[in-house]
Amino acid sequence: MTGVAENMNVQGELRYDEPMSRHTSWRVGGTADVFFIPASVADLSAFLAGLDPDTPVFWHGVGSNILVRDGGIRGVVISASKMLSYLERVDQLTVRAGAGLPCTQLARQCIRWGLGPSEFFAGIPGTVGGALAMNAGAHGGETWERVESVRAIDRNGDIHQRAPGEYSVGYRSVTGPPNEWFIEGTFHFEPDAKPSMDTMKAMLERRKTTQPLGLPSCGSVFRNPPGDYSARLIEAAGLKGFRIGGAEVSEKHANFIINRDNATATDIEELIEHVRQTVQEVHGIELVHEVKIIGEVPA
Ligand SMILES: Cc1cc2nc3c(=O)[nH]c(=O)nc-3n(C[C@H](O)[C@H](O)[C@H](O)COP(=O)(O)OP(=O)(O)OC[C@H]3O[C@@H](n4cnc5c(N)ncnc54)[C@H](O)[C@@H]3O)c2cc1C
Repeated sequence: MTGVAENMNVQGELRYDEPMSRHTSWRVGGTADVFFIPASVADLSAFLAGLDPDTPVFWHGVGSNILVRDGGIRGVVISASKMLSYLERVDQLTVRAGAGLPCTQLARQCIRWGLGPSEFFAGIPGTVGGALAMNAGAHGGETWERVESVRAIDRNGDIHQRAPGEYSVGYRSVTGPPNEWFIEGTFHFEPDAKPSMDTMKAMLERRKTTQPLGLPSCGSVFRNPPGDYSARLIEAAGLKGFRIGGAEVSEKHANFIINRDNATATDIEELIEHVRQTVQEVHGIELVHEVKIIGEVPA
């Protein structure tokens, strides 16, 4: 029972029992009942309009901030990244990007156009849609500081043009109209900014020396608590290198959990919980997940 009618007419690709380990940067996760890759926005609208209203829908960027449990996802995963990967210059200081565009490409093209500050987007290894959903940020810049407007699609397939004022935006958190997903963002830049490829390359070099980039991870697991750093608290609790199954707290950056050796999602989730509890016991500080944990616990 997938909620997708047998005779549903789509132009895109419908995959059944798709392993989510292929679509997450941790390389773990059970299967999604249905994985839909729409061919166009019209195709996506028609699909959503025809879907059983009780079927859960989950939107996927490139999976660089999600932990999918080993029991997988009951419902439909929408993967529209390839179809929505356009970038257009709107006017002197404004660009329009599809939600599937990689943030690195947004950074590079904006720098070429002389639009800044945009270098920070290169540090976010996800899509524009994921960055809008998370208010992703790096090197002092944050996605929503640059948002002029967005377009979103709802559960019925209807499209809405929305202003930033319709969202409540905070540190790695965005709340807006429920059951809607971003299909496009319009971003504005500063007249006097002088973005540079050298600055962007220096930011990326710094990441290579401070983060375990060659190993599967989801970046920072926990948000930083006010006035402190999760990595510092985890390191001070003696957790660097701590392992559960194939999952390990990185020696290089303690707020990263790496898939060291064929970890399962269960290993990773148990390690996340162990870190959270230990930091609570040692420092009396409650760490909050940045990573989104979704799907079913295995039977
Ligand atoms: C090595 C590494 C380094 C990282 N460094 C940073 C960093 O410096 N700063 C930072 O902020 N993040 C960082 N991240 C985390 C991650 O890249 C960001 O959170 C990114 O914005 C997630 O984008 P995504 O496309 O992968 O989204 P996904 O992981 O696929 O999804 C994340 C969440 O966004 C939702 N979502 C995705 N697309 C849409 C959409 N179009 N509409 C509505 N909801 C959507 C999903 O449903 C999910 O809840 C890092 C990750 C890694 C692996």
